[in-house]
Amino acid sequence: MTYIDQPCERCGSKKRISKTWTEKLETMRGVSILEISQIICTNEACQDLFDRNRAEELVKINERKLAKEEQDKIRRENVARSINERKKAKSAY
Ligand SMILES: [Zn+2]
Repeated sequence: MTYIDQPCERCGSKKRISKTWTEKLETMRGVSILEISQIICTNEACQDLFDRNRAEELVKINERKLAKEEQDKIRRENVARSINERKKAKSAY
């Protein structure tokens, strides 16, 4: 088990690295390998709360994304409609 020096900012308990993995990141200059570690709090209640908050946040982010997509769709339709109306107005002359 690998502990890290920094205590938990929420409850002050020790934190540990639960897992590490590498991810390939393609950049302009080539592929770089990123090492990512997931750090969790050893205080289960604290970590539980964090996980729950994070899950809620993900739901919120997703909702926001859907709302934005919906708005984009409406905007696109409006633009298409106004182009059509302009065309119609022109052909009326
Ligand atoms: Zn904690």
